[in-house]
Amino acid sequence: MRNSLSEKVLACRLCGHRVLDHILDATSQPPANSLRKPNDPLPGSVPLILCRCASCGTLQLTETVDPEYLFSHYVWVTGTSVAAHGYSQTFAKNVLSHVGQGLLKVLEVASNDGTFLRPFLALGHEVVGVDPAANIVQTANASGILTYPEFFGVKAAAAVTAQHGKFDVVFARNVLPHVKDANDVLAGMVSALAPGGLLAIEFHRADIILEDLHYDSIYHEHLFYHSLASIELLTKPHGLHVFDVTTSPISGGSYVAYFLLTQHEATPELILARAHEAHLGIQTAAAWHLFAQKCLSHRDSLRKMVDSFVTDGKKIVGFGASARSSTLLNFTGLNAQIISCIADNNPLKCGLLTPGTNIPIVSSRDAFESHPDVILLLAWNFSEEIIQEIKAVHGWAGTVLIPLPGEPQLREI
Ligand SMILES: [Zn+2]
Repeated sequence: MRNSLSEKVLACRLCGHRVLDHILDATSQPPANSLRKPNDPLPGSVPLILCRCASCGTLQLTETVDPEYLFSHYVWVTGTSVAAHGYSQTFAKNVLSHVGQGLLKVLEVASNDGTFLRPFLALGHEVVGVDPAANIVQTANASGILTYPEFFGVKAAAAVTAQHGKFDVVFARNVLPHVKDANDVLAGMVSALAPGGLLAIEFHRADIILEDLHYDSIYHEHLFYHSLASIELLTKPHGLHVFDVTTSPISGGSYVAYFLLTQHEATPELILARAHEAHLGIQTAAAWHLFAQKCLSHRDSLRKMVDSFVTDGKKIVGFGASARSSTLLNFTGLNAQIISCIADNNPLKCGLLTPGTNIPIVSSRDAFESHPDVILLLAWNFSEEIIQEIKAVHGWAGTVLIPLPGEPQLREI
């Protein structure tokens, strides 16, 4: 079944099993990055349903939105986040601690503006990026990070290695959850890897999604919601052996898993992470059905809090028109009648309207000049960074509503 925007899956994208149990219906909505100018036509809506393969247990969406639509003119620029800049240094340090001395060749899959390759380049390593967003690839190349404008897979890997040879380090951050054919991406990564090379994969942790109710991370770009268990299922057939894991603050809690093409003893950190997932029943249907119930009750409590501000005549402004905020706003029914505008520091987004909820996105200066009473902190995974900015740059004081993780919280600043 295919409409112009999306295609419904008939079988698990990983194992081909034909029974996909519905877990959570986050309501039909436009893809999260379908921001539009006020006079542009309304974007189409696509069902947003989290399901679980009854055979391999992998969590995924029931619909695949056309990747050309999602990624060819991408508006998420990694470098706009201060936290991402800081973390890029830690990421490079962690990766380099797993490889030997000397100058390396480093390849990043879906490298965006090159923020995560920059620390390697600064240390003298040779870096190459591949990314499908032509507009962002231009920025990366202009800033000195050699980047090819391609969707990565076996074909792109062959072209890049023909040019540069094989790589000592190949990494992909938050990429595998985005691609329908994760096997093609993995095969490409493996084929680009030099003998003895290190492969690193970063992904949002399903155990944290489950425990902290990160239902706002469910959006059409994220086809998969991976745990270490499902990542291991996916990578094993490619001859990859996971041997270590480190944690990352990205997305409110991610893992970086490290792989070699030869067997290697699991580190204590990896053993603990696997045990934690097993304890939560991450591969069981029951754990995810309970998650869905909690999401519905979270939606109701958040809506009740916002409605009481509206009843009291308070002006509510959002902060952070992230892709995640799109799911949260559509799922909770918070639209332009309730939220007057959303502040965002990405100038590419200012002047546009949010998908499905039609809330104007403005610069944070404009947002605070409108004298809000309450800030709904939509980009809650950057809470501390944003609260600092609100206080220091805008001198604003008032009530901040932090919707997640866990129960919604109010904070006076
Ligand atoms: Zn499956």
